Amino acid sequence: MSEPLILGAGPAGCMAAIALASGGVRPTLLDRDATVGDALCGGFLSWRTAERLRAVGIGPIQLGAHPVETLALVAGKSEAIAALPSPGFGLSRRALDTALRRRAVTEGARLVIDRARTVRSGMVEGEEADHPAEAIFLASGKHDVRGAPRPREDDDPALGIRIRIPAHDALRAMLRGRIELHLFRCGYAGIVLQEDGSANICLALRKSALADVGGQPTALLDRLADMHPRFGERMAFAPDDTAIDTVGSVPYGWIARDTQRGLWRLGDQAAVIPSLAGEGMAIAMESGVAAAHAFLAGTDAATFQRSFARRAARPIRTAKLIWQVAETGAGARILTGVARALPALARTAMGLTRI
Ligand SMILES: Cc1cc2nc3c(=O)[nH]c(=O)nc-3n(C[C@H](O)[C@H](O)[C@H](O)COP(=O)(O)OP(=O)(O)OC[C@H]3O[C@@H](n4cnc5c(N)ncnc54)[C@H](O)[C@@H]3O)c2cc1C
Repeated sequence: MSEPLILGAGPAGCMAAIALASGGVRPTLLDRDATVGDALCGGFLSWRTAERLRAVGIGPIQLGAHPVETLALVAGKSEAIAALPSPGFGLSRRALDTALRRRAVTEGARLVIDRARTVRSGMVEGEEADHPAEAIFLASGKHDVRGAPRPREDDDPALGIRIRIPAHDALRAMLRGRIELHLFRCGYAGIVLQEDGSANICLALRKSALADVGGQPTALLDRLADMHPRFGERMAFAPDDTAIDTVGSVPYGWIARDTQRGLWRLGDQAAVIPSLAGEGMAIAMESGVAAAHAFLAGTDAATFQRSFARRAARPIRTAKLIWQVAETGAGARILTGVARALPALARTAMGLTRI
């Protein structure tokens, strides 16, 4: 049998590679980028993500991650603070993905750089070469590859926007030890410090909100900062020339319930949890490990996919419900009020959105 091919060296692909390599199989790990970039992401590692990293010998603290003990929910003028069930961390994707990729290679994965154009049974066609493999682990994350698309929501999909504000003492004092979720009518912004003291501000917003301001992300950020003073206070630290990253049409709530023969769907290619739960990376890592174990045990891809879909269903359903309630103005205020009055309930909700 040929070695398995893993398409994508993000959290899902790297964890699959590590688990396969430690099970005695030497996978090929294919990624389009020779240099690890700073993927658009909230940069929050949940306590479950941290556990999975420690299990493969990667310590968030050793990577310099910023410890996070509390969640601050902000809706208009109201704020609720709830302790996280266990500490999480703020860490850039550059730092995380570099550590994961390094670990996968140390364990024995063979890293190949090429951009996949098409996936079909037994073959990934790249820009540089064809990559035949009986088992293909599809871990291309937010980016679909021709031949294995995910369905697109066409009525007002979510889009991701991210800026990074350089380290600043006053901003650091505001954000120390917390992850902030600012709830808006059209979505939310998550803010957390990263290992270098910078603040990662990542938003998931309805596309219609962008259309309302003429399609300009800068204009949308300015409008949100004007309408939401607490968010505006944080945005005031952003230099004028701050780069804005965007990703379009994130299919929140989608779960792969079946797959083609020999195609193992991992990470965001298996299930997409609304990002305000801060659990996407944990689900990605868990899918990678579970798929590798299933493969080593001789299970077929479709059986794995159905079983993983069942495990991912509850956290994704719960997170989707919270996202839907939060994006109605009144719902956001109710959620904040409930979290303030009953922090234990907020912690239960955080638990229900974990895989
Ligand atoms: C706005 C937003 C905020 C988020 N915030 C958080 C958060 O704070 N915490 C959290 O846990 N999750 C968060 N998530 C979710 C998280 O980013 C994803 O769930 C996670 O990155 C999925 O991991 P993955 O390995 O499946 O894919 P990715 O991380 O997207 O990695 C995919 C890899 O595949 C490679 N690739 C892609 N296409 C190709 C190709 N054609 N050929 C070769 N290589 C390719 C890429 O270079 C990359 O290395 C957020 C998501 C969004 C949209």
